[in-house]
Amino acid sequence: MAVYQDDAYANLLLPKMLTEAKLEDRDSAFAQELAFGTIRWQLFYDGIIERCAGRSTSEIDLAALVLLRLGTHQLLAMRVPSHAALSETVELAKQVLNVGAAGFVNGVLRRVSEKDRPTWLELSLKNVSDENDALAIEYSHPVWVVRALRQALKSDGREAEIAELLAADNAPAMVSVVALPGLATQDDLLDSGMLLGSASPIGGEIPAGDPHEFALIRSGKARVQDQGSQLAGLALVQIAEVQPNEEWLDLCAGPGGKAALLAAVAKQTGSKLFCNELLPHRAKLVEQALSQVNPDVYVRVGDGRQLGEDAPESFDRILLDAPCTGLGALRRRPESRWRKHPSDVAELAKLQQELFESAWLGLKPGGFLAYVTCSPHPAETTAIVDWAEKSFGTQLELLDANAALAKINPGLVLNRSRKTVQLWPHVNGTDAMFIAIMRKSLG
Ligand code: SAM
Repeated sequence: MAVYQDDAYANLLLPKMLTEAKLEDRDSAFAQELAFGTIRWQLFYDGIIERCAGRSTSEIDLAALVLLRLGTHQLLAMRVPSHAALSETVELAKQVLNVGAAGFVNGVLRRVSEKDRPTWLELSLKNVSDENDALAIEYSHPVWVVRALRQALKSDGREAEIAELLAADNAPAMVSVVALPGLATQDDLLDSGMLLGSASPIGGEIPAGDPHEFALIRSGKARVQDQGSQLAGLALVQIAEVQPNEEWLDLCAGPGGKAALLAAVAKQTGSKLFCNELLPHRAKLVEQALSQVNPDVYVRVGDGRQLGEDAPESFDRILLDAPCTGLGALRRRPESRWRKHPSDVAELAKLQQELFESAWLGLKPGGFLAYVTCSPHPAETTAIVDWAEKSFGTQLELLDANAALAKINPGLVLNRSRKTVQLWPHVNGTDAMFIAIMRKSLG
């Protein structure tokens, strides 16, 4: 209800609620699957609920609808016996609603329970002729997102993999962890009971439970971070050997994940990191993230679009981890696919260009800029790079970020026919990060 009513983020709110409730690991995992699965599968389930209720979901009270989705997820996707799924959900309806609503929930869920998931899928897809519409129902994604992801796959020669990508968005992802360079190693992650990450050479994974149960995380030597994000940070610092006294900028740093990685490497290499973030509360998070890693980092609160003019030709390396739709991280944020709209894309692309122009101004001749998004949408990835190449002409050299990543992890599956990197959840086990690295000419 917090997600639907107050726009809460499930991946931030639920862990807190689970800790407060002091649930055992097994019950925690159950509650997480119940909440995340219910939210992810909403589109598919709503179609079934509408058939069983004989009315549109817009005519159903929100609390009753959420209960129906919760019950449907248990009936069709979890190993909960049908009678338990029904009676528990109806009991909950009595507690939070009233006896009348409980009767309605009972009636609808009984009808849902009469067919299994494959039968419901077959019924739901009957009379749906468009392939994208069918995928949208089968994998519960808005159809515009299906189209955008298909287009992104196509430009990477992977169009046939659309169903695998959508399925990966619905699969619960393990929590990824980074061992911050100079503070911890992958061996430390292993010794503390984590699994080794396969994408990042400094990454690990936690199969279940609260990351803060690990001393390494509490001490700030390791942090929760997707391995694709780790690779983006590593690519920027390893694209060329770090020279003495380099100055680095993280232009859009909040909440500080990549900044922590850059700060750790800056400490090792004698470089100085500056961070910038528009929103004060997110800048605070950056300060917190850095306090245990490298206190010698200045965090500025301000609009990154202004920074280039304020500090022209000042930085040797700049990370522009741009605000984006986040369509590459849907598996970690169950509700985000429902919150984005096609109109967001054009607005964000404009902001991305303006931030890029500012970053380019702030870059020293000979310096490196990493343009990164956690989205594979062509409008905020390859189209921005095409625009930048046109805008800055011979001043901008697009470097082979795939070659850089292949050096960082030779086992990584990459598309070596292009210079920009596109990672994929179903191929690399990471979020769908996009990474482009550019060098500003000396002349
Ligand atoms: N690099 C971060 C990390 O790894 O934790 C994630 C960055 S997130 C993709 C983009 C950030 O840009 C958000 O924190 C957002 O508040 C910030 N932002 C949005 N507009 C901005 C602007 N005009 N100038 C600076 N930062 C901005």
